[in-house]
Amino acid sequence: MSSLNNLASVGQVIVVLSGKGGVGKSTVAVQLALSLVSSGKQVGLLDLDICGPSVPHMLGLEGKDVHQSEQGWLPVYTSADKNLAVMSIAFLLKNKNDAVIWRGPKKHAMIKQFIQDVCWDQLDYLIIDTPPGTSDEHMTLLEILKESAKGAVLVTTPNLVAISDVRREVTFCEKTGLKIIGLVENMSGFVCPNCQDCSQIFPTGGGQLLADETGIPLLGKIPIDPNLVRCEDKGENFIAAFGNSPAALAVHSLRDTI
Ligand code: ADP
Repeated sequence: MSSLNNLASVGQVIVVLSGKGGVGKSTVAVQLALSLVSSGKQVGLLDLDICGPSVPHMLGLEGKDVHQSEQGWLPVYTSADKNLAVMSIAFLLKNKNDAVIWRGPKKHAMIKQFIQDVCWDQLDYLIIDTPPGTSDEHMTLLEILKESAKGAVLVTTPNLVAISDVRREVTFCEKTGLKIIGLVENMSGFVCPNCQDCSQIFPTGGGQLLADETGIPLLGKIPIDPNLVRCEDKGENFIAAFGNSPAALAVHSLRDTI
């Protein structure tokens, strides 16, 4: 069990990164996974945001348990057809409000187990949601994954403060040799549900600016959608419920670029 054998049946491993919290990194990871599932793919979603695991809540899986088998941990599935397998530290906490206060070595050991000891079965994609910024957790993840990762999707909001944080992520990827698949600009305007007009709430163009500056492709822009935050709050499938909304269409086209 202490090899990358459990990743042997995994197609593409995609790491989702952001320069800071609150820009929609987990949202992009979750909605991308749901979009891939809606296109008939088998998907795994690994929540490595050890100090703020929000994936189980967003998928309505809070309180679920993972079980051990001889081959390792069995992930939690979102539905009986087992198209989306999820693993998160949240499944291992006794109480959902428990804080994870671990020092480096324990986090390192847990991430290693998450990468090596989960029985994913046959997957087309494994999406990995990471903590914000560049931390020891990221170093550990990349040390263990080595060349198994296809690359990283960097999530930002359009404002320049967020963009400057993403520049650090770009440097991190360059230094660690993790290929950057592209950038996603989240919360990119607000589409009025009545008139479909798009208002730019944040200053615009940050993602494009960074793309022009670095040559990294801008893979898409996801607008703010009140139904998206509502679905994630309630643990409902936004892609299934609002598949034709501008935000869902943006996620689908992001999916088609990776
Ligand atoms: P991060 O992982 O970067 O900390 P989250 O994905 O947890 O960010 O998003 C923070 C909050 O913003 C969540 O409540 C999420 O539902 C909401 N959110 C993220 N992106 C959007 C969007 N495009 N439209 C509406 N709400 C969004």
